[in-house]
Amino acid sequence: MKNYRIATIPGDGIGKEVIPAARTVLESIAAQQNAFSLEFEDFDWGGDYHRKHGVMMPENGLDALRQKDAILFGSAGDPDIPDHITLWGLRLKICQGFDQYANIRPTRILPGIDAPLKRCRPQDLDWVIVRENSEGEYSGVGGRVHQGHPIEAATDVSVMTRVGVERILRFAFKLAQSRPRRQLTVITKSNAQRHAMVMWDEIATEIAREFPDVTWDKELVDAATARMVNRPASLDTIAATNLHADILSDLAAALAGSLGIAPTGNIDPERRYPSMFEPIHGSAFDIMGKGLANPVGSFWSAVLMLEHLGEPAAAAHLMQAIEHVTANPALHTGDLGGTAKTAEVTRAVCEFLASAQPPVA
Ligand code: ATP
Repeated sequence: MKNYRIATIPGDGIGKEVIPAARTVLESIAAQQNAFSLEFEDFDWGGDYHRKHGVMMPENGLDALRQKDAILFGSAGDPDIPDHITLWGLRLKICQGFDQYANIRPTRILPGIDAPLKRCRPQDLDWVIVRENSEGEYSGVGGRVHQGHPIEAATDVSVMTRVGVERILRFAFKLAQSRPRRQLTVITKSNAQRHAMVMWDEIATEIAREFPDVTWDKELVDAATARMVNRPASLDTIAATNLHADILSDLAAALAGSLGIAPTGNIDPERRYPSMFEPIHGSAFDIMGKGLANPVGSFWSAVLMLEHLGEPAAAAHLMQAIEHVTANPALHTGDLGGTAKTAEVTRAVCEFLASAQPPVA
């Protein structure tokens, strides 16, 4: 029987509630499938760790993760620590250290979810956003001088490399090719940004030649926001730079009904390092410690993790359980307008897994 070593990093805020919940449903699916086992190791990195040690994670922390098959991450964010420290000191340190250059964000309107677009039927919104996750606007290149003086200056330089753009667009075309509609929209801003984004467009045209069976188009990022709202069915797989995709995927999550549902995977497609899966929401300090967090984003992230590990049957069964639960308004948490608690949603998913026949993979 295969054994997968999973690192769990709950991090901060509601991460400490939704990651243990995800672990519970993963243990339940492993027991139910009886085809693989999961060995978890928990890491207490994040804001509390920073208060004790002055860093979000140990200097050699990546070494402790290197031999894992996957990482399940909660969130990083702390009211007492600046956001750029919580982000760069933990999440980005792992993403960049393990060259998880492809970030995928599936978006669908799950059964029972009251999504805000009134003319959008659930079948009209079925997207995967592919976000460049290693360079671009978040490459960390820049500087700040003369702080506090009138001549103060600061730069954040967006660095795009041919290797970086080729590999993410090739990944996006491949993903589009694997989906029923075989359709890719490449997001750009080459009308205003006339160097790196023009190279991005040129490389898209080059890579497209490798995928003659994928229909593709280009869309300016500003126009893409309107298209997501007005013509959601015209989109399927979407590829965008680090910053553009960051913004578009929050819009996508909102259009699908709640930030509490959306999952993401930070993938190393070459599998040199473990990939990392996490809900897209943050630490949500307003509801932390009350058992009110919606764990569905973490459960769906666990589905992405099972798919990545090569366990499609378990992934499909867990997704079926999630949809069974979202279809029942009595199991909706506060973000969805309900009163259910994290523990009730978790229990309902585990009960479904124990009772229902798994779908045919
Ligand atoms: P961070 O600074 O870490 O990004 P944040 O609190 O600013 O965190 P989010 O946590 O992403 O931002 O979400 C904003 C709000 O959405 C939260 O304050 C919370 O009310 C709600 N929310 C987000 N995720 C969930 C969830 N899983 N369950 C219930 N409500 C949620």
